[in-house]
Amino acid sequence: MSMTDGSSCDSCKLPKINCICDYRPALKSNIEFCLLTHESEFQKPTNTGRLIAECLPNTRLYKWHRTEPDQNLLDHIANPDYQHWLVFPSDDPLHSNRIKYFELEEARAIGKTSSFILLDGTWQQAAKMFRKSPYLNHLPLISMAPEQASQYTLRRKSQDHHLCTVEIASELLNIAGEVENSSILNDYFQVFSQHYLAAKSSHAVKCKSKEMSRLIELNLPLTPGTIIGEQE
Ligand SMILES: [Zn+2]
Repeated sequence: MSMTDGSSCDSCKLPKINCICDYRPALKSNIEFCLLTHESEFQKPTNTGRLIAECLPNTRLYKWHRTEPDQNLLDHIANPDYQHWLVFPSDDPLHSNRIKYFELEEARAIGKTSSFILLDGTWQQAAKMFRKSPYLNHLPLISMAPEQASQYTLRRKSQDHHLCTVEIASELLNIAGEVENSSILNDYFQVFSQHYLAAKSSHAVKCKSKEMSRLIELNLPLTPGTIIGEQE
C-alpha cells in the first residue's frame, strides 16, 4: 500500500478516507519520551513511535546511526534536569545489575523530569540498537514484561509477543501514575490500527469503535454544563 501519493493525509500519513487526525488527543504529561528510531523505521507506515509524538508534543525524536551517536541525544542525556531511563526488554542476566524499578514517589522526590528512551524499531532492530549504543550503557534500564501480549496485529513474525513502541509508552505512562494518558494513548493506537487495516482493504472504517467514540468526545469543545470525568 502506498501512503505517499497525493491521496494520503500529510499529517497522519494514512489515505485521506482513513485519516485519523480528528481523533488525535493533545496530551500533557509530566514525563517525556525520547524516540531513538532506526533509520529504516522512519518510512514505514506501520511504525507506531510517531503516534506517541503526535499525541505528546514534548516527545523528542532522534535518528539512530550505527556508526555515530546523535549529538543532540548525547547533550540531552547530559542535562542534569532529567533522569533518563533506557527501556529495553532484556532477560539477559548480564544486564540484571542495570535493571531498576521505576518508583513514582522516588522520581517525584528527585524533582527531575523522567525521560524514557525508547528504541523504536522492530524487535531485531531494537536488540541491535541496544547492543551497539555504548553511550547508553550507563543509564538505568527498565525492562518491561507486562502481562498482556501485544495487541498489535499489523505486524506479524518473530516479534509477535513483544509490545510495539506505542504500547510500551502507554505502559510507562501507567507506571508513572498517568493512568488516563495511558488509556487515551492506547485508544489512539487502536484507532490507528482500525484505520490502517481498513486502508489495506481500500475502504473507510465502517462502524464507529468505542475507542473512536471516546476520543471524539474528548476533543469536543466543552459546553456549559459538561461534567468532566463522567463519560460512561
Ligand atoms: Zn490525517
